[in-house]
Amino acid sequence: MTAYKDLSKNELKALKKELTKKFEDVKAKGLKLDMSRGKPSTEQLNLSMGMMDVLTSSSDLVCEEGVDCRNYGVLDGIKEAKQLLADMMEVPKDNIVIFGNSSLNVMYDTVARSMIHGVMGSTPWCKLDKVKFLCPVPGYDRHFAITEHFGIEMINIPMTPTGPDMDMVEELVSTDPAVKGIWCVPKYSNPQGITYSDETVHRFAKLNPAAEDFRIYWDNAYGIHHLYEDKQDYLIEILMECKKEGHPDMVYKFSSTSKISFPGSGIAAIAASDANLKEIREQMKIQTIGHDKLNQLRHARFFKDIHGMVKHMKKHADIMRPKFDTVLASLEKELGGLEIGSWLAPRGGYFISFDSMDGCAKAIVAKAKEAGLVMTNAGATYPYGKDPHDSNIRIAPSYPTLDEIKLAMEVFTLSVKLVSIDKLLA
Ligand code: PLP
Repeated sequence: MTAYKDLSKNELKALKKELTKKFEDVKAKGLKLDMSRGKPSTEQLNLSMGMMDVLTSSSDLVCEEGVDCRNYGVLDGIKEAKQLLADMMEVPKDNIVIFGNSSLNVMYDTVARSMIHGVMGSTPWCKLDKVKFLCPVPGYDRHFAITEHFGIEMINIPMTPTGPDMDMVEELVSTDPAVKGIWCVPKYSNPQGITYSDETVHRFAKLNPAAEDFRIYWDNAYGIHHLYEDKQDYLIEILMECKKEGHPDMVYKFSSTSKISFPGSGIAAIAASDANLKEIREQMKIQTIGHDKLNQLRHARFFKDIHGMVKHMKKHADIMRPKFDTVLASLEKELGGLEIGSWLAPRGGYFISFDSMDGCAKAIVAKAKEAGLVMTNAGATYPYGKDPHDSNIRIAPSYPTLDEIKLAMEVFTLSVKLVSIDKLLA
């Protein structure tokens, strides 16, 4: 393979002609393909259908603490659901509060509470001139949407193969009292699939924030979402690590069963120190009389325990693995050695992150759309939708079928090649 940058203008022009013909042929097929959304496929959703049968009209619907789950009662989660999610999140059962059906909702509430009421007695953020959040990039667009919604200034922190650039994080957190938080997806990150290294987690736990109300927003959405049995990432548990370093209150940990059972109908939870949870429960008891206990019971009885959940995740992995492998094989076969893009091979999570040559991502996404392939908008992985290099594209292989992925990757790699040639010819 010759790198495109080493081809002459005439060679590039000839190649463009050949690839344009291929592109027009694919376009003529009138395809309708979508690799934009990190949604489980129908086949994956079917894995949890047994959950519909665990509660029937003749089931005993009384939970472990003796409460009838059909009625009011139990504010912060029934015991059996707490045990299940505590094991999933690798924290003690007493350090967890169960919420409703969405962890993003819990994150929104957490930021909103800090804005309106402050954190543990500190000044409410809405009364401050400036509030800032650190945003490892590329990252999850919905995190950035929450902080943007509240007028919080977002600062890009480049991701490295071991997690966010910790020199930059340490510098900003320890010197600027306006920095109140950092968004983290520490395992199989969205979109790169990176897991924070031991050193990164240690450095997080050792942070000495200038702001007493600084919190790490640790969104472990993909904690048990491995793709391979023999190659799995390991992440140090942050709550215990912060406690060991004398900063027990510095972290909020979020998770949900959205991509384990049913997105939008799973259960979400927050794990934090006793002091943080006390404050959260105070607000919670005003917000609600309690969340959906029947759904909690359904989850607890379906999975039985963490071993049941881990077994279930292997079935998800069996469906996801060939899709990831197909995307990666196509990238390697079509783009390997051309030096017009780079990517990582994640061991879990929901995404593959592709970096094109600078200034090409928007054009690639637009080109792919011309041939019927919808990708996540270029820029979406950055705060304010602005990728300073215009290079990152998120690939979400979970929802389409294998055959659709093969076609989609043909469109995608052709689009990358054509846009890169135009860039080099310009
Ligand atoms: N956090 C991350 C990193 C995600 O990628 C997603 C969904 O894509 C969510 C949270 C959404 O979680 P939930 O369905 O629990 O709101």
